[in-house]
Amino acid sequence: MDLSRIRIVLVQTTHPGNIGAAARAMKNMGLTQLVLVNPRDFPSGVALGRAASALDILDNAQVVDSLDTAIADCGLVIGTSARSRSIPWPMVDPEGCAEKLVVASNQNDVALVFGREDRGLSNDELQLCHFHVQIPANEEYPSLNIAAAVMLLCYEIRKAVLRAPGEDKAENTDSLKQAAGKTQGIDDPIYEIWDQPLATVADLEGYLKHLEKVLVRLEFHDPENPRQLMSRLRRLYSRIRPDTMEINILRGVLASTEYQLDKKNRSES
Ligand code: SAH
Repeated sequence: MDLSRIRIVLVQTTHPGNIGAAARAMKNMGLTQLVLVNPRDFPSGVALGRAASALDILDNAQVVDSLDTAIADCGLVIGTSARSRSIPWPMVDPEGCAEKLVVASNQNDVALVFGREDRGLSNDELQLCHFHVQIPANEEYPSLNIAAAVMLLCYEIRKAVLRAPGEDKAENTDSLKQAAGKTQGIDDPIYEIWDQPLATVADLEGYLKHLEKVLVRLEFHDPENPRQLMSRLRRLYSRIRPDTMEINILRGVLASTEYQLDKKNRSES
């Protein structure tokens, strides 16, 4: 199975040794695409030393300056977190995470995002993700070294690939669909044949910015007193996972709303 549509994203890694160890873990598990968001120290001899025979992964790693850029073209993004955050988000376990990524990667580029060694991912970064995955580690000390977390979740991806019988891609996808459905116990439209491509992160971000602008104009939303409104709407839309056609319809509704507001303003002035 081609795993080149699954990318591993490391956000602001401090220690280059962790980048090298993550690259080695990826190569051991058959993954190839590494994206680094603002690494503190890269390229680095220390990273090369820890990567051992995974130098190709470091050579091909893309370095970008924001998480938005790293995942803009992805149809599914899963963020990792060692602890629960203020606003609950759809969660998957490590097996479910792997199954979702492998199945979705048949049709979309997908990403698994890891945070900083000291602080993990910020709430804003986690809210760019469709799901969060938490490795159920010892509650007294749940925070793994980042490269260990990369290894564990890439191993789950490998197991999900190996669980699929035969070489035939369609057959693989079917058995993973069943496995994913069982694990998650949910009816996830991404496991169905869908007539439109899923909206990417960039599509959804564009829509949410537009929505916020219109809600402010309607005086429904007060940016001085936001009360988590936009976070909750973001969670709603990322849970639904709209496709590109649906996003176009929603943007059309916003454009009409703006047109009517302009017309009303003109007639009043
Ligand atoms: N103190 C930080 C922990 C950062 S550990 C915090 O509380 O968020 C560095 C990174 O390793 C995390 O951002 C995450 O990507 C990964 N990681 C570590 N432990 C994890 C766990 N139990 N589940 C999922 N990811 C984990």
